[in-house]
Amino acid sequence: MAYKKSWESNEKLNKTEQWKLEKDGLKVFEDIPHYAKNGFSSIPKEEWDKFKWAGLYLQRPKEDGYFMMRVNVPSGILSYDQARELASICKEYGRDVYDITTRQAIQFHWLKIEQIPDIFKRLEKVGLSSAGACGDITRNIVGNPLAGIDPDELFDTRAVVKEVYDFFQHNEDFSNLPRKYKVSISANLNNAANAEINCVSFLPAKKEIDGKEENGFHLKVGGGLSSRPLLAEELDVFVLPHQVKDVTIALTTIFRDYGYREKRHLARLKFLMADWGPEKFKEKLLEYVELLPAGTDAVKGWNAGYFYGVHPQKQEGLNYIGLNVPVGRLNSDEVYELARISKKYGNGELRNCNSQNLIIPNIPDEHVDALLNEKIFDRISTSPLSFIGYSVSCTGIEYCNLALVETKERMRQIANDLDQELTLDVPVRIHMVGCPNSCGQRQIADIGLQGIKMRTKDKKMIEAFEIYVGGTLQDGGKLNEKLKGKVEAANLSEVVKQLLIHFKQTKEQGETFFDY
Ligand code: SF4
Repeated sequence: MAYKKSWESNEKLNKTEQWKLEKDGLKVFEDIPHYAKNGFSSIPKEEWDKFKWAGLYLQRPKEDGYFMMRVNVPSGILSYDQARELASICKEYGRDVYDITTRQAIQFHWLKIEQIPDIFKRLEKVGLSSAGACGDITRNIVGNPLAGIDPDELFDTRAVVKEVYDFFQHNEDFSNLPRKYKVSISANLNNAANAEINCVSFLPAKKEIDGKEENGFHLKVGGGLSSRPLLAEELDVFVLPHQVKDVTIALTTIFRDYGYREKRHLARLKFLMADWGPEKFKEKLLEYVELLPAGTDAVKGWNAGYFYGVHPQKQEGLNYIGLNVPVGRLNSDEVYELARISKKYGNGELRNCNSQNLIIPNIPDEHVDALLNEKIFDRISTSPLSFIGYSVSCTGIEYCNLALVETKERMRQIANDLDQELTLDVPVRIHMVGCPNSCGQRQIADIGLQGIKMRTKDKKMIEAFEIYVGGTLQDGGKLNEKLKGKVEAANLSEVVKQLLIHFKQTKEQGETFFDY
C-alpha cells in the first residue's frame, strides 16, 4: 500500500506532528538499549514523549525517571505462560502492582530504563509486546474476552483479532497516525467489546449472500471518549471475517491520510467522522475495498463486560468462571495463584475483561466445586458485593501525570462503604476518572465521577468531582449527563450514597439505573 504522507507539506502541523515526521515513533525501540546502558539522565527531555510508541509513559513525577508500561493483550486472552511471565515482571521490577485496564491490557509501574531491555526480551519470549500500546498508533485490539468459548457469540473471533493485531504490530506504514487509534472486533451478541466507544468497531451481523446465510460484521466508526466524547456511527456495509484486515487497513489509511493534524485535541478519527458523516465515510471506504450493504444486526444487548459466576461454555461439559478484581488491581502472587488454579483445573488461560475483571475458562463440570473452594476467591470473588463488583477506576494521581485527583484507592473505598451501607436489587456501575481523558470510561457509567480541581472560598485549590448520570451502550448507546455543581472530594462518598438512596426509594422493582 502506498504511504502517502499527504500531510507532509502542511505548515500548520503541531509540534508533535513535526517530530513524528522527522523520526517515526517506533524508532524509539532502537534507542532504548543505549538509554538503558547510560541511565535515565542520558534521555533528552524532548525524547520522553516518544517512549509512548514502546508502550512506556513516564509516571508522576516525570523527573524521577520511573516508567509505566502497558502490555497489549489482544481480546484480553493470556496463556498460562504469558500470565506467569507478566507476574514475574511485576514482582521483579514493578513493585508488585499489576493493573488490568479498560482495554483488556496490563499495566506495570515503577520500571527503570535499565530494566526495559530485559522486560522486552521476557515479553517477546511468550509472544507479548508493549509496542503501540500507547502513542499515535493502533492500540491493543479489544475483543470478546469469551471468544471461542462463548455460547453468546456468532462465531469465534480469535483468528481475526490475531490477524489484524499482527498486521499492525511494528508496522511503520501505520505508526504515524494523527492520534491514538482504537479498534474493537467482537462477535459477542451482548457487545462485550464496547463497540460504540472505539474509533473503529466490528460487531456481529448476518447476511444472505448467494442464497446462503453468512456470518460477518457490521461496522461502526468514529467513537471515542476524552474531550468531546462521541459514539461510533454505523456505516451501511457488511464485512466478511476474511475482509476484516483489509477493511481495517483501509480505515486506518483514511485516518492516516485525511485525519486532522493541526490541533492534538481535535485529531481523533471521531472528528473526521463528525465532519464527513457516515455516508461520505462509507463512500471513501468503498474506494479502497469492495463491500456489500449491511445485513441483519445480531447484537441483542449490552453486558458491559461483566461475567460473574460459573457459566456453561459452548463446549459441552466446560465452564467459564467470572471473577471480580477490585478496581482492576492485583499483585504478582495473586496472578501466579490464578494462573496456577487455571492450569490445575482448566487450560491455564486468564482472560481480561474491559470491566477490569478476569475470566478463568475451560473448567470441566466435575472440577468447578473444587476450584471455587480455593482461598483466593475470598478476595477475587466470583460473586462480589454489588458496588465493588461494578466499580471501575483509572490510574489517577498515584502514577499519572495528567491526573487532577487520586482515583483508585478512593473508588475502592467508596464502593466498600456503599457495600456496607446499601443493598440494591440491580447493579449500579460507577466509573471514576482522574481527568477528562477518561481512561476509566466514565461516559458509559451509570454514575460517572470525574476528578477536577476546585478553588475554595479561601482561594485554596482542592480535589473535587463532577457527577454524571445515565450512561449506557444499550441500544446504540447514550453518554451520561452532568449533574449541576461540583462536589468536594471529602464529601463525594456521602453525596453518591444519597443519590443511590434516592434511586432505591423511588425506583420500581428491577428497574435499572439507565431505565430510571
Ligand atoms: Fe490519567 Fe486522566 Fe487517564 Fe486517569 S483518565 S489515567 S488521570 S489520563
